Amino acid sequence: MYAARDVRFVERDEPKITKPTDAIIRISATCVCGSDLWPYRGAKPITQPTPFGHEYCGIVEEVGSAVTKVKPGQFVIGSFFASDNTCPICRAGYQTWCLHRELVGGAQAGRLRVPLADGTLVATPAMPPEDLIPSLLTLSDVMGTGWFAADAANVKRGVTAVVVGDGAVGLLAVLSAKQMGAARIIAMSRHPKRQQLAREFGATDIVTERGDDGVARVKELTEGLGAESVLECVATQESMKQAIQSVRPGGYVSYVGVPHGVELSGQDLFYRHLHLHGGPAPVRRYLPGLIEFVWTHKINPGKVFDLTLPLDQVAKGYRAMDERRAIKTLLRP
Ligand SMILES: [Zn+2]
Repeated sequence: MYAARDVRFVERDEPKITKPTDAIIRISATCVCGSDLWPYRGAKPITQPTPFGHEYCGIVEEVGSAVTKVKPGQFVIGSFFASDNTCPICRAGYQTWCLHRELVGGAQAGRLRVPLADGTLVATPAMPPEDLIPSLLTLSDVMGTGWFAADAANVKRGVTAVVVGDGAVGLLAVLSAKQMGAARIIAMSRHPKRQQLAREFGATDIVTERGDDGVARVKELTEGLGAESVLECVATQESMKQAIQSVRPGGYVSYVGVPHGVELSGQDLFYRHLHLHGGPAPVRRYLPGLIEFVWTHKINPGKVFDLTLPLDQVAKGYRAMDERRAIKTLLRP
């Protein structure tokens, strides 16, 4: 990314092993993340050309001398934060706050250096068939983030869950809530194509209203109480407010997007007995389980990709998502 709305496909130096714990992988598929759209839209100025992309899966080509678990030839998936998976924070399940974490950047590329390979990368049982690759790619971030949204909002069998946001994360939060047994899933969306996918993933109700009207509609659907679990997948002041007002007293709100201008009222949190849990999803915690779900065709999160482009047309992929013509763009190097 050279500047806001200026994404280019250019030749760069091949990545090299720089630490004995690194691996180099050949990317099979990568994609554009909703969070890439913030800098694309100029939220933070780009001061120099910056490699983008943090969602990846592919084949290990080379490993450093200290790597023992990951082997060349394996098909692997990793998170956007490299983690050792052994420190106390990792062991508690918050690998995105690993004491030795490193941000993985520049995955919109043909090859990628992944630090802390043994802790970060998880291999599939065998070389995946072509049709599983989009779903496996989602486990690198967007599906893991949707899963965390449902987990952090304490979705359990029989509950009513509200999902605020119909981006790829919101849609996969619907799928996750369904897998965890929610009896009723209310998706807040006013976009027909996204409503359709939300229903395919398990939404039972669609609420098109926003703000106070949206909250009133959720209350109507929940006997005036609000929902037990609200999954906030947008991260603006309006969406967070809507989430907090849609939860019943003592309920759970999760938030999984990078907040932009979100400020909370202590009074609101206090008097609602609110449980609030979120942050950058610890995708690594969920990788083994979610790989199993995809491998056995229990879930098909790859459906969120409604545009596939060769990597050299990456700029088109950003544009389509920016203009909301595409839910999520898959890129093939
Ligand atoms: Zn760690």
